Amino acid sequence: TPGQRPGPPPKTPVPGIKHIIAVGSGKGGVGKSTCSVNIALALAGQGLKVGILDADLYGPSLPKLLGIEGKPAIRDDKIFKPFEVFGIKAMSIGPMLSGTQAVVWRGPMATSALRQLLRETDWGDLDVLIVDMPPGTGDIQISLVQQVVLTGAVIISTPQDLALIDAQKAIDMFRRTNVEVLGLVENMSYFVAPDTGNRYDIFGHGGAKTAAAALDIPFLGEIPLVMSIREGSDAGRPAIAADPDGAEAQAFRALVAPL
Ligand code: ADP
Repeated sequence: TPGQRPGPPPKTPVPGIKHIIAVGSGKGGVGKSTCSVNIALALAGQGLKVGILDADLYGPSLPKLLGIEGKPAIRDDKIFKPFEVFGIKAMSIGPMLSGTQAVVWRGPMATSALRQLLRETDWGDLDVLIVDMPPGTGDIQISLVQQVVLTGAVIISTPQDLALIDAQKAIDMFRRTNVEVLGLVENMSYFVAPDTGNRYDIFGHGGAKTAAAALDIPFLGEIPLVMSIREGSDAGRPAIAADPDGAEAQAFRALVAPL
């Protein structure tokens, strides 16, 4: 019909990749990237071939979390070679920016950059690609859910009401775009003081489990607030790689058991 806008192009799979799982959150700073990385490593620990894509183009944090340095190699045909770290493949725009340079793009530029990182990277054969999404429900998220067939989405939240309200918006976005929500994770769930053993529910506790039940989505588990998780992230050594037998690594592994 004249004047009618064309709908989005059909969703297409990414050749060689069996499952794409988006990890999202309503808010920034809730530990989405930290959880994405450890979820990827936990899946790799099950013997799966795993990749991770940093779709948080405006605030790429994978390079720091994974200790990635230098620019990615580019093949003669202009296809990126992903970084290989801790047994997984990783791709981020971060190493292509210099220092504190910001990405100042409008939506369409970000959308095409995401397409390039996703489709013009030599992922090889992957069982799972984890996509570390930007927080919220903006252009990049919408373009990803419209471009590719996602197996599902995992949502990270803190127990705080405010974070949970925003997490519900992210869940609503995935549901309305027909992406299955695989589950909700409560990060920074509680803190146990290492010297006294006293437990503090800094951001409250259990809010995500209650919200998951109310929304009828699986609750995948809780990750406590632990100094070593923050230290490991800053040092480019995710919990699962830093101490595979530690309590934190076990907590992250438990998240993927139901997936
Ligand atoms: P997001 O991707 O949601 O913005 P990040 O994963 O970058 O969040 O985490 C934000 C900050 O919180 C980082 O400094 C990270 O190391 C820290 N962090 C995340 N989860 C935990 C946790 N469970 N315990 C301690 N620090 C955490």
